[in-house]
Amino acid sequence: MSIQVSLVNKFYNQQQALTEVSFEVGKGEIVGFLGPNGAGKSTMMKILTGFIKPSSGEVIVDEIDVLTSALEAKKNIGYLPEHNPLYADMYVREYLHFQAAIFKVEKTQIEACIDKVGLSLEAHKKIHQLSKGYQQRVGLAAAILHNPTVLILDEPTTGLDPNQLVEIRTLIKELGKEKTVLFSTHIMQEVEAVADKVIILNKGNIVFKTDMNQLKATNKSLEMLFREVTSS
Ligand code: ADP
Ligand code: MG
Repeated sequence: MSIQVSLVNKFYNQQQALTEVSFEVGKGEIVGFLGPNGAGKSTMMKILTGFIKPSSGEVIVDEIDVLTSALEAKKNIGYLPEHNPLYADMYVREYLHFQAAIFKVEKTQIEACIDKVGLSLEAHKKIHQLSKGYQQRVGLAAAILHNPTVLILDEPTTGLDPNQLVEIRTLIKELGKEKTVLFSTHIMQEVEAVADKVIILNKGNIVFKTDMNQLKATNKSLEMLFREVTSS
């Protein structure tokens, strides 16, 4: 198993953001993480990547306990946070050199990453000069620099135009050929286009998990299912 989450609870003061959340993701799977705003997706992703601690529960990524060995676990995890926090005034290549230094990645890896995410023609520009789609590529390049086995992508396609959306989706699918990917989104077609499995969260609880093949065998669309399990 690439990701093992069991009985995770998270409280922000009195408010419970996650309740007994358990799921597993197999090696090499691409999993869509769905749920209405406020469902707890970003909270779960921050816990998975070791940025915040759960109130209780167990989180194992690539056989490493994220709660007791966060630094070690982070070596295997690439994370694109929600709203993709980048230093807009830095040049693309400069930013990736900066990130590579933090992760102690060989500089020789940087150009390969730039190439992989299709940034070769933009790498000399300042980040703020790029379109949102290309900025997402910078975030993805930074996430894969240290060659992690698991990618956690928090709404990687939110705010993109239809063409950029397809491009980033294709890139995620491409990266998913060699990595385990858990990504959140509000776009049902995206999950249908790239994911092997889907997990739906509502008000901090997992309300549905399915294999996309199983779902296709029923006559239900993912959108119908989503509305059914999250409208309460
Ligand atoms: P999603 O990503 O699915 O939209 P979040 O994980 O961001 O959901 O939020 C889940 C719930 O936890 C929301 O009710 C949100 O207001 C609350 N929450 C998130 N972060 C914090 C925080 N740092 N402090 C207090 N409450 C928070
Ligand atoms: Mg979120």
